[in-house]
Amino acid sequence: MKQVIIVGGGIAGLATAYYLQKQATDAGIELEYTLIESDTEFGGKIATAHRDGFVIEGGPDSFITQKPWALQLARELGLSDRLLGTNDERRKVYVLVDGRLVELPDGVMLVVPTKMMPFVTSPLISWPGKLRMGLDLVIPPREEDSDESLADFIRRRLGQEALDKIAEPLMAGIHVADPERLSLQATFPRFIDIEQKHGSLIRGMLTARRRRAQRPNPSRNSSHPKTTIFMSLRGGLVELVDALVDHLEQHGTLLTGWRIEKVHSRPDAPYAYAARLDNGRLLQADSVVLATPAFVTADLVEEFNPELAEGLRDIRYVSTATVSLGFRKDDFRHPLNGFGFVIPRSEGCKIAACTWTSTKFDDRAPDNHVLLRAFVGGAHDEHLIDLDDDAMIRMVRDELADIMGVTAEPEIAEIFRWDKGNPQYDVGHLERVAALEAKCEPGLFLAGSAYRGVGIPDCTKDGQRAAEAVVEYLSVLEEEATKREA
Ligand SMILES: Cc1cc2nc3c(=O)[nH]c(=O)nc-3n(C[C@H](O)[C@H](O)[C@H](O)COP(=O)(O)OP(=O)(O)OC[C@H]3O[C@@H](n4cnc5c(N)ncnc54)[C@H](O)[C@@H]3O)c2cc1C
Repeated sequence: MKQVIIVGGGIAGLATAYYLQKQATDAGIELEYTLIESDTEFGGKIATAHRDGFVIEGGPDSFITQKPWALQLARELGLSDRLLGTNDERRKVYVLVDGRLVELPDGVMLVVPTKMMPFVTSPLISWPGKLRMGLDLVIPPREEDSDESLADFIRRRLGQEALDKIAEPLMAGIHVADPERLSLQATFPRFIDIEQKHGSLIRGMLTARRRRAQRPNPSRNSSHPKTTIFMSLRGGLVELVDALVDHLEQHGTLLTGWRIEKVHSRPDAPYAYAARLDNGRLLQADSVVLATPAFVTADLVEEFNPELAEGLRDIRYVSTATVSLGFRKDDFRHPLNGFGFVIPRSEGCKIAACTWTSTKFDDRAPDNHVLLRAFVGGAHDEHLIDLDDDAMIRMVRDELADIMGVTAEPEIAEIFRWDKGNPQYDVGHLERVAALEAKCEPGLFLAGSAYRGVGIPDCTKDGQRAAEAVVEYLSVLEEEATKREA
């Protein structure tokens, strides 16, 4: 019986275990796996708190469905009835400009306008800025195929104002990153395809929009709830984690509250790998998947592969926090007519964005209450996560008072700090990841948000990819053993 160790019980590690068990069965390989999570709970960045009727997400609040892997996994786990779409009839996003919230014009896809009238009449971008964005229709595509930063790309195609007011807070914001350092190839490869294929982002996005409008929504005639671009689960994303854990417990060994301190590689021993737990216990395996943050993975492999450790440490991380505030509706004057707002750096605010959670989703606040969530920290303001709870809540409330006029006393306040929680995909990231993979010993695999996408769907897919790699590796081992016996 082959043995596999998976370190890290975030979505990437859990998805690895899920697909490993399925794919091993399909390939006729008998294996046992052990998944070790250092925290007392599984889920990693997926963390939902239920408090006084509020459903509070500390990390992700939804997953994108255009990348289908998380949605598929939720359905396979029997969660179709629990899926929760966004309230798209109230989908409006605002940008803070000169201290005022200005609506992002209807039809802007990421940063590209696809509806002319709302864009032309919007006060968000100045006239010179709009004309500069229009030049995208005639600027020839880039000829080199080397990586570039998101900022360089947007400046080149759409101009500085589109970068400052839309791309920086919205697109780099998704990655909690500095757009001047963020790799376009690793984060928005679709833009590169569109530029090369259509010669213009606006033309390419318009074509994509027309095609999408012609396609039927598959959920329209099915028992599934309507599939919106972002989806969550009624009781919060922790339901995905709980369903995975329930399923996995029937098949493998799952440990929480134990930290792996070191991994040892012993190519000539009967088991090529051993992992030492912080209670001194040694687990042995034929193959290991490390689904931990890159800097943790570096410490784990340091002893037998210092070069790999050094490469892993080149992946930078930044820290963030989320501050959720729940209010009584009666105390609250603002209409919350949208999904929230983002704040360009040039506004000089301490918070980076705020989601109007109880508008974006149903079932997030009890009757007659509202829920908001502010984002603190990130590439330029990491030090803010060191504020104590009272100071952080005061800071968020002061800014919400200035921006939204909210002076009410919150009924609840919940802070989640993510110290070095956000991997940074700097320019050249994909090459760095390929080099890391090449440095791994046979049977050792890396998975998780540090490598091939930070979103839940990407991490799910990465777990699937790692599982495939393990099964392929074990099949080769079995073939070799059979040949030796013969
Ligand atoms: C505030 C915030 C908001 C986000 N919003 C979204 C969103 O809306 N949509 C979206 O798709 N994505 C979002 N993301 C990104 C997404 O949540 C993460 O990228 C993803 O959940 C990471 O999963 P992972 O399994 O790679 O890593 P993690 O979740 O970090 O899991 C790694 C696990 O390894 C464990 N571990 C560490 N060291 C050891 C050790 N030595 N031994 C054993 N276990 C160990 C950790 O405890 C952890 O549980 C957000 C992230 C943050 C921080």
